[in-house]
Amino acid sequence: MATFKEFRNNVKPNWCPGCGDFSIQAAIQRAAANVGLEPDGLAVISGIGCSGRISGYINAYGLHGIHGRSLPIAQGVKLANRDLTVIASGGDGDGFAIGMGHTIHAIRRNVNITYIVMDNQIYGLTKGQTSPRSGEGFKTKSTPEGSIESTLAPLEIALSAGATFVAQSFSSDLKQLTSLIEQGIQHEGFSFINVFSPCVTFNKVNTYDWFKENIINLDTIPDYDPTNRLGAMTKLMETGSMITGLIYQNKERKCYEDLIHGFRQEPLASQPLALSESEFDNL
Ligand code: SF4
Ligand code: MG
Repeated sequence: MATFKEFRNNVKPNWCPGCGDFSIQAAIQRAAANVGLEPDGLAVISGIGCSGRISGYINAYGLHGIHGRSLPIAQGVKLANRDLTVIASGGDGDGFAIGMGHTIHAIRRNVNITYIVMDNQIYGLTKGQTSPRSGEGFKTKSTPEGSIESTLAPLEIALSAGATFVAQSFSSDLKQLTSLIEQGIQHEGFSFINVFSPCVTFNKVNTYDWFKENIINLDTIPDYDPTNRLGAMTKLMETGSMITGLIYQNKERKCYEDLIHGFRQEPLASQPLALSESEFDNL
């Protein structure tokens, strides 16, 4: 069985020292080993941004895709090779701005992949512009007077869109993050994990200290029930989405692959369409 070190390669990350993305890389490698994967059983598909580099830093199959498009590629990889464990990743700009349409539809489609968003609440690669996750009043080169748009709440959107697995973590909490990625990989459906990942170079507001002061770990909330969708939505709204942990999981709903006739039994190419020929002709 592979150890987490076997998911390392010789490529040296060029993230800034202290960037939260280092810990997310480590958590993916540990989670992959902990659930018993081998490097040739994992594919990491990324978008564009500082976070997008992650697919090159893990010893596994990888594809550094195009901006906002990690999810269509990742879903295609999974449907083409059902034996692979597929992780898609990207930043908040990548997944919640240009890629938001894909994100919503991937959530409701429920293909069995894991989506990890490295949420630093800014555009880092392009040297610091306001992102959909930046707070109101956030000043950057693109909003010198402070952002006047409301902050996107992706976890609330995910719940509304029919998500079956919603979690949030903080890059500094390697233990929680690793555990959530393991649970996400093992969940039979689309797992959405948002991770606060401080950009130490351009975001001087949402710093490590700021997150430590504002995060509420669900482990500290007695009787929190992650199977209660309404309760999850209420808790997100009450806390400004600052909770970390497993927020919601629905194990009842079948994943996309399980709803395709014969998908589990035979190579897809040899299977009939889900609709019979006469049904198809009569559409
Ligand atoms: Fe990380 Fe920010 Fe540096 Fe990008 S610019 S590598 S997000 S610290
Ligand atoms: Mg970002």
